Amino acid sequence: MLNADRQREVEQATDAFIVRAETLFGLRLPPVTVRFDLKGRAAGMFRVRHGNPEIRYNPWVFARWYADNLAETVPHEVAHYVVSRLHRRRTKPHGPEWRAVMQAFGVAPRVTCGYRPEDVADLPRRRMREHAYACGCMQHRLSSIRHNRIRRGKASYHCRKCRRPLRPVAAKE
Ligand SMILES: [Zn+2]
Ligand SMILES: [Zn+2]
Repeated sequence: MLNADRQREVEQATDAFIVRAETLFGLRLPPVTVRFDLKGRAAGMFRVRHGNPEIRYNPWVFARWYADNLAETVPHEVAHYVVSRLHRRRTKPHGPEWRAVMQAFGVAPRVTCGYRPEDVADLPRRRMREHAYACGCMQHRLSSIRHNRIRRGKASYHCRKCRRPLRPVAAKE
C-alpha cells in the first residue's frame, strides 16, 4: 500500500498538472476528488460520478512502481480530465485529443504500463460484481454478464435443484 506521505505527493502532483492544464489550454478546471481505492492491474482511472470529476489511483501499483506512476499515470489521468472538459462530443479514450494533452504536458502518450502478469499477479483483484437471485429453494449469485443477459431478455437461468427460474432478489445497483 502507498503510505500517507506518498499519497499526499500524488495529490499534489495531480493538482500541479491540473494547474498546468489551466494555463496551457486556458481552462477553468474545478478540483478533482482523488481516491486511492482502485484495485486490479490498472494504475489509474478517471471518471465523472454524480457530476463530480474523480481520479482513482491504484495504491498497490503506485507503491510498487512509484516513480513510474508519479511521472506517467498522474498526467495520464489528468489528461483524461482535460479532454472531458475541452471536448463536449465523445472522444476515444486514448485518441488524438488525449495524445495532444499528453504532448502538451511533455509526457510520452503511452497507454500500456508494460508490467508482466507475474509482477502484478499478487496485487488485490477487482471484486467482480455479483447479483442476488433466488429460485424456490436457495439463493444464487450471478455474474454481471448473466445478470445483464437476463435484464435484456436474452437469457433465463434455472436452478439445477428445483428447476425453477431465477428471479432477482433485490435491485441493488
Ligand atoms: Zn487512459
Ligand atoms: Zn432452487
